[in-house]
Amino acid sequence: MYRTKTCGELRLANVGETVTLAGWVQRSRKMGGMTFVDLRDRYGITQLVFNNEVDANLCEKANHVGREFVIQVKGLVSERSSKNANIPTGEIEIIASELNVLTKSETPPFTIEDNTDGGDDLRMKYRYLDLRRQCVRKNLELRHKMTMEVRRYLDEKGFLEVETPMLIGSTPEGARDFVVPSRMNPGQFYALPQSPQTLKQLLMVSGFDRYFQIVKCFRDEDLRADRQPEFTQIDCEMSFVEQEDVISMFEGMAKHLFKNLRGVEMNEPFLRMTWADAMKYYGSDKPDLRFGMKFVELMDILKGHGFSVFDNAAYIGGICAEGAASYTRKQLDQLTEFVKRPQIGAKGMVYARVEQDGHVKSSVDKFYSQEVLQQMKEAFGAKPGDLILILSGDDAMKTRKQLCELRLEMGNQLGLRDKNTFACLWVVDFPMFEWSEEEDRLMAMHHPFTHPKDEDIPMLDTDPAAVRADAYDMVVNGVEVGGGSIRIHDPKLQAKMFEILGFTPEKAQEQFGFLMNAFKFGAPPHGGLAYGLDRWVSLFAGLDSIRDCIAFPKNNSGRDVMLDAPAPLAQAQLDELNLAIDLKEE
Ligand code: ASP
Repeated sequence: MYRTKTCGELRLANVGETVTLAGWVQRSRKMGGMTFVDLRDRYGITQLVFNNEVDANLCEKANHVGREFVIQVKGLVSERSSKNANIPTGEIEIIASELNVLTKSETPPFTIEDNTDGGDDLRMKYRYLDLRRQCVRKNLELRHKMTMEVRRYLDEKGFLEVETPMLIGSTPEGARDFVVPSRMNPGQFYALPQSPQTLKQLLMVSGFDRYFQIVKCFRDEDLRADRQPEFTQIDCEMSFVEQEDVISMFEGMAKHLFKNLRGVEMNEPFLRMTWADAMKYYGSDKPDLRFGMKFVELMDILKGHGFSVFDNAAYIGGICAEGAASYTRKQLDQLTEFVKRPQIGAKGMVYARVEQDGHVKSSVDKFYSQEVLQQMKEAFGAKPGDLILILSGDDAMKTRKQLCELRLEMGNQLGLRDKNTFACLWVVDFPMFEWSEEEDRLMAMHHPFTHPKDEDIPMLDTDPAAVRADAYDMVVNGVEVGGGSIRIHDPKLQAKMFEILGFTPEKAQEQFGFLMNAFKFGAPPHGGLAYGLDRWVSLFAGLDSIRDCIAFPKNNSGRDVMLDAPAPLAQAQLDELNLAIDLKEE
């Protein structure tokens, strides 16, 4: 037997037992005639002691064991004289009687400790070593537990896990596809699924009325902060349901996860907010509701007083940061710089402090009487000691988005975005379409299979941009952790949708014929949702990036630096695939 115990399980109760452990050497140190080795495995760290006076040869051998050597040790579990309260095994140590070096290790490129000296790139290149660190490993453990709990919940509710293919046809609607050349069909390509959307809908036509799949999805997008080209969805679909049924089933799942993985009981129904209100009051379709600072529109109060910036604005709005009137001039200048950064793009920021006597002092005092400033104070319900921050602009939507960034920044600065507080929200009533400047046409905001609200269907012909959808997102702490919709199951309505999206009937048939044909054979009303597994794990683990809960993630340029992928293909392989490379110069 390589080991009788793991490095994480021995306690005072085991004192007196003879055990064999195997693992990696975290570190070793010599103190007088003793050598101490911290032995690590997946389960924890146990201290080994080699005593020169008891067995000089063995101690000498231990002195030659380096970091990350894999060793096997037999010894007696003993109570430690100086205990370490920071680790569960800190009350015991192993007085070693045998040592066997199983494999040697080169000095690792960085220290394998929670506080490592390795930078991001280095850790990604040697990700297998990075994964030895407890702080990284525990994220994968949480991920495992989460998928177990997801399966447990959905199985209990009668969902069937069905696998759908990874090699499918390209559906350019949505993000860009990753494509795979077909050797057997020269010049033809598969696409990797952006999601199993149409396939799960076909499963509904087949009568599998509760489906789920924990599934890899692929999107060839420019990588923004927290995106990976491949990511995992908890993909679900149900038949004979309305929006409320789907929401309640998956709110139930969220509560199940909170309870079983975080020990948080959520008894109240999650908040609901329409998309229109989310945009109006928070400038975002995924507001972080851990804190207030709801936007207040100030057009009526602040326009027409001779301050040209506001007089010419299409939108003036602000937030009130409680107790932040103590912000110094320097801090306010930094906030102004923050909103003026190119990524945010505001032209400037106006601020007003509510002083202890209730008087309002603003950066544009010369244009506004105290009476007007008091009206503004009332509009926010601001109190002495509060700070009001105002942005304006000639495009209301853009300005709200800028104000959203400012609000989040203030939330950070005031410590209102605690990772152990969870604010869950359903955003509902999304618009059916959004205008794409790039494509110069309406695009489906969710996807083309989403059902419009029944009462808005007549507007499809007259004012499609105003049509709302039976679409919903779940947002936790400002992160969109999932979303879905009720689907169209009427082939005629689906055809109309493609028409509005600019598809000719031929093109729609070519790309989505399989789905529309299936709908001719009795499609049940259906709907569903997909949760982002990576995002849920990151949220529960308090991570800043989903990368940290993925075993082998890609970097910001979509590269796997460990595998060195993507990479060119050998000519022979290209020939076999009938492919020629013709790189355009940048
Ligand atoms: N397939 C959708 C997505 O990936 C989710 C859904 O509508 O179920 O966003």
